[in-house]
Amino acid sequence: DTIGANLDRTAARVGDREALVECATGRRFTYRELVESVDACALGLDALGVSRGDRVGIWAPNCAEWVFVQYGTAKIGAIMVNINPAYRTHELAYVLKQAGISVLIAAPAFKTSDYRAMVAEVEDSCPSLTRTIFLGDPEWDALMAAGRTADRSRFPDDLDPDDPINIQYTSGTTGFPKGATLTHHNLLNNGFFVGEGCGYTEEDRVCIPVPYYHCFGMGMGNLGATSHGATMVIPAPGFDPALTLAAVEAERCTSLYGVPTMFIAELALPNFADYDLSSLRTGIMAGSPCPVEVMKRVVAEMGMAEVTICYGMTETSPVSTQTGADDSLDRRTSTVGRVHPHLEVKIVDPSTGRVVPRGETGEFCTRGYSVMRGYWNEPEKTAEVLDEARWMHTGDLATMDEEGYLNIVGRIKDMVIRGGENVYPREVEEFLYTHPDIVDAQVIGVPDAKYGEELMAWVRLREGASPLTAETLRAFCTGKLAHYKIPRYVKIVEGFPMTVTGKIRKVEMRETAVEELG
Ligand code: ATP
Ligand code: MG
Repeated sequence: DTIGANLDRTAARVGDREALVECATGRRFTYRELVESVDACALGLDALGVSRGDRVGIWAPNCAEWVFVQYGTAKIGAIMVNINPAYRTHELAYVLKQAGISVLIAAPAFKTSDYRAMVAEVEDSCPSLTRTIFLGDPEWDALMAAGRTADRSRFPDDLDPDDPINIQYTSGTTGFPKGATLTHHNLLNNGFFVGEGCGYTEEDRVCIPVPYYHCFGMGMGNLGATSHGATMVIPAPGFDPALTLAAVEAERCTSLYGVPTMFIAELALPNFADYDLSSLRTGIMAGSPCPVEVMKRVVAEMGMAEVTICYGMTETSPVSTQTGADDSLDRRTSTVGRVHPHLEVKIVDPSTGRVVPRGETGEFCTRGYSVMRGYWNEPEKTAEVLDEARWMHTGDLATMDEEGYLNIVGRIKDMVIRGGENVYPREVEEFLYTHPDIVDAQVIGVPDAKYGEELMAWVRLREGASPLTAETLRAFCTGKLAHYKIPRYVKIVEGFPMTVTGKIRKVEMRETAVEELG
């Protein structure tokens, strides 16, 4: 099936139900109205000369028009390229050129960024770019108006579900983002199974504070909702913990998404207890290791009794494993669940490629409908992760238990080797979270003359907590963690360097640490 045909089918079934709510403006769209706008956008782009396989960039924070462009491009077989709202001129020019974007649809500005000025600065150096349309400008209104009156026979009737329709850049957590090329088939199926995993029906209202720029928002969020006739609720253009909880309350959302840092920020709001979150039933935490303590609070204090954890990556459209509502609380907080239907997985020794015995740590590899075509125009980088048998080598270390539940141990790149012992930062972080004064903890390895690497913990303290020193924290760990896992250095921080998708950039933490340690 194609993404457009699937949306039409949902609209035929539940056309009068709400599809989309944009809280910042109060705009609301039923499924019938959403399809009208999507079709107008599709035919408007077609009238501009955009055809199958052409790249259309979308550079905007979460808004209704983002959704029109997502489904509109898919309906004419164009390839949408998600552009990070945090980009500046250097990165913008890179993506425009790398993906060969011909039409760019952009917000005029976001936060402190003037997108108009940035586009003006780079457009001359990007030969493929023929047209930039800013949302809200007369050109955008003209595009939609042209689409509304266009001849519907312009819709292609031979779209192939295996056509690429999306280039989605990875978060850039470990290096420069890579453009995963994804098809209707990749994205639609994954969205559908994620929605199944959350038990969505048309009664559900899904609050999406995670960026559309990323697979979490547009895949698990939008496609997860529309493939089941549920409602998408956009709390604000960018992430804001207070606006998110206000949206859950006002819109009676049944599901809430976030990376762990977002849930931590929401739980830490001084007036957290004032929000009525009683409508929440489920949600998804994903994107980086989900601390058990945070999961427990989400269940107990936000009432998300059926909350699920998903594990996946942009390259796999994105989800590979998900916990189920019927799993025990322990399983739902301490594992990333079981493998999604129709996927193959194996856990291998990264140095030999051999499958490791059940329960042992190795690199998680997956194969099946969810795996990307490859990185756009980067055959070498593609070959580093996709082997000839089409196994995706994720770079994540995992274990699988007898019943098929997976645990993500960490990224191969983040593993610390101290004095010959492998230390997985995740394990140390989970322990630090049990300290009553610590609200967030991240552990990295820093170079050390004697041991090769030493552990450093960055911790964020609860408001009003008394200061913590390396000595007191080490004393807290002593006797509970093996000596080589106890952080030598402790740094108290207010926050962490983060990607726009809310992930902590350990690369940057390491750079800072190395500078500070001299
Ligand atoms: P880049 O590839 O550019 O360095 P990235 O890997 O963060 O960035 P994404 O595709 O957004 O880009 O994220 C996928 C990664 O996020 C996974 O490979 C994994 O390391 C991590 N991840 C996702 N979900 C979970 C989870 N539930 N638990 C632990 N880690 C997770
Ligand atoms: Mg990655």
